[in-house]
Parts: sequence; structure tokens; C-alpha cells
Amino acid sequence: MSFTLAIVGRPNVGKSTLFNRLVGKRLALVDDQPGVTRDLREGDAKLIDLRFTVIDTAGLEDATDDSLQGRMRRLTERAVEMADICLFVIDGRVGVTPQDEMFADILRRKNAHVVLAVNKAEGKAGDAGAIEAWSLGLGEPVRLSAEHGEGMDDLYRILVPIADGFVERALADAPVVDVDVPEGSEEEDDPEAYKPTEKHPLQIAVIGRPNAGKSTLINKIIGQDRLLTGPEAGITRDAISLRADWSGTPIRIFDTAGMRKKAKISDKVEKLSVADGLRAVRFAEVVVVLLDVEIPFEQQDLRIADFAETEGRAVVIAVNKWDLEDDKQDKLFELKEMFERLLPQLRGAPLITVSAKTGRGLERLREAILRAHDIWNRRIPTARLNSWLGAMTEAHPPPAPGGRRIKLRYMTQVKTRPPGFIVMCSHPDMMQDSYKRYLVNGLRDHFDMPGTPIRLTLRGQG
Ligand code: GDP
Ligand code: GDP
Repeated sequence: MSFTLAIVGRPNVGKSTLFNRLVGKRLALVDDQPGVTRDLREGDAKLIDLRFTVIDTAGLEDATDDSLQGRMRRLTERAVEMADICLFVIDGRVGVTPQDEMFADILRRKNAHVVLAVNKAEGKAGDAGAIEAWSLGLGEPVRLSAEHGEGMDDLYRILVPIADGFVERALADAPVVDVDVPEGSEEEDDPEAYKPTEKHPLQIAVIGRPNAGKSTLINKIIGQDRLLTGPEAGITRDAISLRADWSGTPIRIFDTAGMRKKAKISDKVEKLSVADGLRAVRFAEVVVVLLDVEIPFEQQDLRIADFAETEGRAVVIAVNKWDLEDDKQDKLFELKEMFERLLPQLRGAPLITVSAKTGRGLERLREAILRAHDIWNRRIPTARLNSWLGAMTEAHPPPAPGGRRIKLRYMTQVKTRPPGFIVMCSHPDMMQDSYKRYLVNGLRDHFDMPGTPIRLTLRGQG
């Protein structure tokens, strides 16, 4: 696992020189696909024993003066979005310029993780610049000479802990981190707390069999934003996601298309492998299982939907190519019947008909995804759970194996994403699955939590 570092800064500060030093002869990017911008160079960098991807915002010198500012800004923003860390370079001999300040602003606004570098600081040349650099408010600058290779060990020392932290976060991100809630908390939850934001966009994966229409759907959702996020990210990076604003909802979508492109380039498999599908699921908060209306609920679809449930992801079923269907009403009935029969573990999950090609149904899909995310994050106060539990056991008492009735004493929600509950009881090992299902389905109905995986654990009181 590795990270991506973007080198940003105004022209002539030494970005390319630094890029070349980090990459050496290992320049990896060869992208001759039409439409892919060539403004961002990407390479495999090595610094002592650190290996990472480096992006250089080169190629601006060709720009005419009046377009330079805007292009530079756009390019930098894009690089920032693609990167985990930004190395912001200024020229130590010139000191801080108004243009540098503009870059600092962009980085601050984008909430980028910034390392400030004062270049051309060989000998004592950069002393004044290094002091001035503090005024950018981006912390302590590291002094470098890209040309002479000085300061590289300092850069290394700064990057190591960041890289370690990033790897840890990436690992923790893979299965989305559970939020532990103090036991017995009485607090009402606050939907604002988990509303998708720029900083924490809603993570979505679209999975389904080849040809279901995944790429078409993702392209439709991303729309023009795709150009901003840069499709070339998919070629050299492993974890591929695209950021977009989907009708006002900040999202990150797992780029199944980019993944396939990558597979094509390396000439391996044309289709997504199962492993790729699994990776997509791990990435996501909400998994959209995309079915082809002409061949719905095939073995592969069922397996991947089941995996999403097992991994505790919120699931939305989308039936694509709905434009091809003539007898929509009958078909919908048939689909719902199949869904209930073949995926009982996802009971109540939304089933949305869409046409990725025409864009019909996409707004309903967006709403279903948001709602699923909301439920997935939800927390129910203990008092409400316990009064519900009382009513449930009264209506339908737990079994009495061997004449000894199991007593359910107390219940609390211990986690969210997905919701997890603990019920304290006597003889938890004797509890029948059917009664557990009764409780889980009851929770779904009473607290309006359809579709989301619900974890319910019985625990004896020691
Ligand atoms: P970029 O436009 O930011 O990519 O900058 P370049 O890498 O093209 O460098 C611009 C100029 O600064 C070139 O003439 C480089 O040789 C020079 N340069 C780059 N790094 C250093 C350095 O560490 N010290 C000195 N003195 N010059 C440097
Ligand atoms: P992927 O393999 O899942 O990424 O599928 P693609 O997005 O490449 O689509 C496979 C084929 O289905 C392409 O020929 C698309 O044009 C077509 N397709 C995708 N969505 C729709 C749709 O909503 N309606 C129709 N009629 N065709 C679609």
C-alpha cells in the first residue's frame, strides 16, 4: 500500500527538477488515450526506502499569460484531489510571492495535507526564503535543493510518519471503521453528523455482472465532473475512486470503469474479477447492486449482494436497462418476488428501476442511496429500544427450552455502520434462530430500518 504525493507550486520553483529526482528513470505514465490531459505527470517515486506515486503539475510554461492563472489553479485543484499529500514548493531565492499566497489559499480551502518546501536552498541561499515561508501559515518548511539533492533526508523524515499514518488510515478505511457508541447512551442521534460532506463524501460502489451497465451508470452520475477528477488516476493507482457532486451530494464512487481500463491495459482480463468486486464492496458505504433487467438475479449477482450484506454494507438494488422493458408492471412484480425469495437477508432493501443510458430513475436512485446511508448510520436511544423489547417479548415470549424460559433483560445499540445491538439475556446459547429473526425483523419494521444489515448479539449476564 502506498500514497500519492502531488508537487504543487507556481512555475519555475523547481517542481519538475524535484519530480525527476524522485522518479529517476522510473517514469511510469504512458498514456496516449485521447482526451486524457497530459498536464499532470505521474511517476513511481523512491526516496530512500519510501515508495510512492508522485504527480507533477508541469507543462504550464506553454500557457499564454492570461490563461495561465486559471489553468494553474484548475490543475492544482485536480492534483490535490488525486493526492494524499501535497508538497508545496516555493523558490527560496525569491521568497514568498503573491502567487505563492494564492496557492496556499487553494491548499487551505481544499483541506489538503500540506508539506511546505523551500527549494533552491543549497548552501545558505535559501535562508531568508525559509524564514519568510513561515508567513504562509503552513507550518515549518523543509529546505531543499532539488538540483543538488540536498534536504532529501529531511523530506524523508517528514514523509515517513505521514506515510505510516496514511497506510493505517487506508487499512482502516477498507472495511469502513465502526463507530463505537458508549453503551447505554440515551442520546438521540443527529442526522447532520453523518450527512455526506466535502470532507466525508458518501462512498458508493456499483457492482454487477459484466455488461450490466456499470460504466454507463457511473459516467452518467459523474457527468462532467469526471474531467475534473482525472480518469488517468485509474491507470496507475490501485485504489480508484472518483469524486463528484451528485445533485448536491458529495460522493466518492468506486471507479469500476477505470479498473477495467487498467485490466485492459495490462492485457489481463477484460472483465472485472470477483476480487475486484470484493474490493469495491469494502470501499463502499452503500453498495449499488446493478442488475441487467434481461438477466436479473443471476448466481453472480446473488453472490456479490450476499457478500455486501456479510460485510455490513448498506445495499441498494438497481435494475438497469429499464428502457428495454415493455411490460413494466408485470416485470416489476416478478422482480420483487425474485428479490424476496433469493435475497431474504436483504429484506426491505430498495429496488429501483433505472436506465443508465437515458438517465431515468437516477434521482430515485440517489434518494434511495441517501436513505440507505442514513439508516446505516442510525442510532436508537436505549430507552426506546427497551420499551420496544418489552412489547415484543410480551406479544411473543421467547422459547422455553427444557422448560426454562429465556429472559431478555436489557438491550442497547453498541454500534452503527451498520447498526449493531446487544441483548442481555439468560441462556443466550439456547436461543433459537427463529426468535432472533423475529427480533431483527421487528427492529427493522418498528424503527424503520429496511435493507440495512442488522447485527444482533445475545449475551449472557456473567
Ligand atoms: P518548475 O517550473 O516548477 O517545474 O521548475 P523547474 O524544475 O523547471 O525549474 C526551474 C528552474 O529552476 C530550472 O532552471 C532549474 O534548473 C532551476 N532549479 C530547480 N531546482 C533548483 C535548485 O535546487 N537550485 C537551483 N539553484 N536551481 C534550481
Ligand atoms: P459494464 O460492463 O457493467 O460496465 O457495462 P457497460 O456500461 O459497458 O454497458 C454494457 C452495454 O449495455 C453497453 O452496450 C451499454 O450501452 C448498454 N447499456 C448500459 N445501460 C443501458 C441502459 O440503461 N439501457 C440500454 N438499453 N442499454 C444500456
